[in-house]
Amino acid sequence: MSRLLRIDMSSLSHKWMDVPSKYSDFAGRAFTSSVLSDEVDPTCDPLREGNKIVISPGLLAGTSAPSSGRLSIGAKSPLTGGIKESNAGGLTGTRLGQLGIRGIIIEGMPPAGTTDWYSIYISKDKCEIFKSNEWAGIGLYELIKKIWDKYPGRPGVIGCGIAGQRLHIGAGIFGNNMENSDPGRFAGRGGLGAVMGSKRIIAIISDGRGGEGPKPKDKERFDRGRKALTEALQNHPVTGRLTDDEGKPFGGLANYGTNILQNIISEAGGLPTHGFRDGRFKGAAKISGEAVHELVDKTREKFGDAAEGKYGHPCHPGCVMACSNVVPYEDTGKLQVGPLEYESAWALGANLDIDSLHDVAELNRLCNDLGLDTIETGNTLAMMMEGGLLEFGDGPGAIAALKEAYDPKSPIGRLICSGTLIAGRTLGVTRIPVVKGQALPAYDPRPIRGIGVTYATTPMGADHTAGYTIAAEILGVKGKISDPRDLKKADLSRAFQATTAYIDSVGYCLFIAFAILDNDDGFQGMVDTVNGFLGKEIDVTEYGLAVIKKEREFNRRAGFTEKDDRLPEFFRTEPLPPHNVTFDVTDEELDAVFKDL
Ligand code: SF4
Repeated sequence: MSRLLRIDMSSLSHKWMDVPSKYSDFAGRAFTSSVLSDEVDPTCDPLREGNKIVISPGLLAGTSAPSSGRLSIGAKSPLTGGIKESNAGGLTGTRLGQLGIRGIIIEGMPPAGTTDWYSIYISKDKCEIFKSNEWAGIGLYELIKKIWDKYPGRPGVIGCGIAGQRLHIGAGIFGNNMENSDPGRFAGRGGLGAVMGSKRIIAIISDGRGGEGPKPKDKERFDRGRKALTEALQNHPVTGRLTDDEGKPFGGLANYGTNILQNIISEAGGLPTHGFRDGRFKGAAKISGEAVHELVDKTREKFGDAAEGKYGHPCHPGCVMACSNVVPYEDTGKLQVGPLEYESAWALGANLDIDSLHDVAELNRLCNDLGLDTIETGNTLAMMMEGGLLEFGDGPGAIAALKEAYDPKSPIGRLICSGTLIAGRTLGVTRIPVVKGQALPAYDPRPIRGIGVTYATTPMGADHTAGYTIAAEILGVKGKISDPRDLKKADLSRAFQATTAYIDSVGYCLFIAFAILDNDDGFQGMVDTVNGFLGKEIDVTEYGLAVIKKEREFNRRAGFTEKDDRLPEFFRTEPLPPHNVTFDVTDEELDAVFKDL
């Protein structure tokens, strides 16, 4: 039996509830976006009491479906001003699933002038809201350790760091990994860490012990689907297992992580480099997933069991793709940061012309410790380079600048935490890569236009995960597309956005898309797990579009118009080397993506 937990931070009280029938098929993004659209005034100030934080594990969290432990966190975004769902791995999705919790709705805030900080502990039998002033203002590595020392049972932990506690809109919501060695599982986008800070919550601790996870209504169908999907994932060259039958490296994600894309996207001419001025980075190989793999092997050889570097690391129990990694320090073999994802290696590397793996990993480690979104922070550092406060390529300078964010009195530190748009405008930059106020991820929309359509039209602000057309445009999944200009970009983006909204709701990791698009049995397996779980038929596209419709309606009520579904001007006017192309998708084509929703 699934249940809801409603927490009121104004009265520091809570109540448990049954899931209302109107939400019975909803979890993950479908749940967070539905609750926000039903309960939050779209015109409210996102950092005042009218906003809510909604937390929901996917529908299949806590079941044995593969790679299904993702967590959705939603709120009105202080970065975009619109609805937001930010999605992460880590332990909390699984722990909430084990507790049979479909969603947590956090509303209100302590009275103005309150200086106390709170944390929340949730277990099978209780929900406790308690003062945790001693956890305020400390780095997240130290925080997660303190929490695990206090609470046995390997709990999931999410929360906000220094940046969120200071209401900076570049802040994300962190999560711990399975070993609790790194707070780097981020629902990073949209400034949701600041929303948590505005409610004066530092951490939410989920203890799954003794809980009764959800049970599929049609177990036979669920099991059939689970097996088919697992097989499709394990046999696909992108999502497959670490080694093949002969012991050779096999799955691209397991061996090289998402950062396998650094070289691929650079070769394709779509890797934003030097502040979106070039599509190729000559230092790509040095900061790539292959470089991390080699470093891990090297430190294992040198330091043996004391080495802490990893690849093929699952971010939550039951992930069979295991794309995560742990980057070790070369001179000690000890953990520097984990994971170093493609987006982070790009934002803190190629886009800043930084080609030192050590410096990129250090910038990522600092973002994790401060509680900052790496994509937003990397783009913000690029604004500082554009604006003349730092030199492109200056890794140590960027590290020193980011360290200023620990000091609450440092103007540079505050600027770095305030996001790309604010930093760009403050510094007089006119090439600011944002949509709806949120910074662009690691695919230049000029040569890869389908993803540009997603950036422009998703209700989430520039977000590659909202409709990952790269799978078709670059990786040739579901057939090869040779010239992106030939695509029906509106159809491509719409199809990916709808499927993504469904996947984000059921709790699967988006990376299952590679296998299910290439393997019809895998796709059917995914459908069978969901429909077997619910004991009814759900159509993938209809379900996803219904979620997007609610999100667009929220944004419309917040004041967004079609003019907000556009890319910054410079993508239309500045050709990008090496292909020297601009973003030439017409406004009519952008408006066609969701014209009938
Ligand atoms: S594939 Fe990677 S990001 Fe996705 S759930 Fe597994 S480890 Fe996490």
